[in-house]
Amino acid sequence: MTFQFLRDIIEKKLKTLQPKTYTKEKHGIQLDAIDNHAFYVIQKLRQAGYEAYLVGGSIRDLLLQTTPKDFDISTSAKPEEIKKLFRGCILIGKRFRLAHIRFGKKVIEVSTFRSGDIENSTFIVRDNDWGSAEEDVLRRDFTINGLFYDPQKELLLDYVGGYLDSQKRILRTIGNPEIRFRQDPVRMIRLIKFRARFALNIDPAAEEALHKCKEDIIKSSQARILEELLRMLESGSSEPFFRYLSDYGLLYLLMPSLARYLTDKPEETFSLLKQVDKNPKGIQRPILMSCLVFPLFSERLHAQSQKEKNIHLGIITEEANHSIDAIFRPFFSIPRKMKGIMASLLASQFRFTPLSDKFKKRLRIPRDPSFPLSLEFFKLRAEISSHLFETYHLWHETHKKSPHHHRRR
Ligand code: ATP
Ligand code: MG
Repeated sequence: MTFQFLRDIIEKKLKTLQPKTYTKEKHGIQLDAIDNHAFYVIQKLRQAGYEAYLVGGSIRDLLLQTTPKDFDISTSAKPEEIKKLFRGCILIGKRFRLAHIRFGKKVIEVSTFRSGDIENSTFIVRDNDWGSAEEDVLRRDFTINGLFYDPQKELLLDYVGGYLDSQKRILRTIGNPEIRFRQDPVRMIRLIKFRARFALNIDPAAEEALHKCKEDIIKSSQARILEELLRMLESGSSEPFFRYLSDYGLLYLLMPSLARYLTDKPEETFSLLKQVDKNPKGIQRPILMSCLVFPLFSERLHAQSQKEKNIHLGIITEEANHSIDAIFRPFFSIPRKMKGIMASLLASQFRFTPLSDKFKKRLRIPRDPSFPLSLEFFKLRAEISSHLFETYHLWHETHKKSPHHHRRR
């Protein structure tokens, strides 16, 4: 008993690594690229006697020469202790508890060092075992996401070889990729996300593990995956992301109808995504999601209109709902409100480009509150099919003059 206890301690000591450190001359991160509030939070945590570092996405983005969108902090302080130090701090999350510190509109995310078992492939349900700084790095997903930065000393701390991987532009899991994917299959989606976003090369072992583990993806929470997909639609790299998702066979597992459709007819969907990628800021989520549905929906509707003559808006809306279900239903549950807006937005497209001439009546702006979104989506279509542009302009002008115009937004 005692012997085993001692052995555990010695083993643990042996495993404790010293991080490689890189000074400013080497890593090149400029202090003024670091968010002031994040700097302040780190300072305050340290003054209170805790360890605190910048970690994860922001450091990766700076090393890969892109602008970080948020600055996450990792600390030895427990969630309740963080809360005591900062006004405007709330604790969130169950599977993964963390602190959000609010500064006006900005939120700085602070998480407590966690330990995670990276040698056991059991599916992770909760992730709230506190640990040391080093353990906190080891439970992270990829080496480039596992770097700590100390803004006071301007030092990069690297336990996992993430700095060199960032220079060689390699995506490598921390630990054995198969184990890490089995523990949390969402990491496979994240692998593809970083490849799409930064055009990184995937480490061959990770690529092999991806092929081996991909079926596990459907064990993950649909809400987490949906969130990753939405974030990618907003990222400016949605087109390569969905291409890789399809190439690696994950799309087929998550959205089989879309995967089959894209194998057959990839052009229209990818053109829409490419257009979105040019300027994704401010495009609302129902529009982004509709890019995945519209081409299939439109095809189905045209097929239907060959058989039936009088397809009115009610039938079109019904078909829009069917198409949304066909694409998302097998795995995802789209929030009811979002689905309603998407169906109306998709159906409205056939006000602009009616299925038959019979419906080419005068332009009438409906009261439908999602009409402005429908028009915005139509603009996206017009941007990739120039023959639609004149029609778009007509509707746009009419809409500007309409009494319903200023009601939303
Ligand atoms: P983004 O720029 O899209 O926010 P990110 O890498 O910052 O990318 P987050 O979801 O914000 O992604 O996660 C923050 C950090 O938490 C990551 O950099 C990574 O170190 C760690 N992390 C996130 N998800 C996982 C996961 N599924 N498994 C292990 N570590 C993870
Ligand atoms: Mg992040």
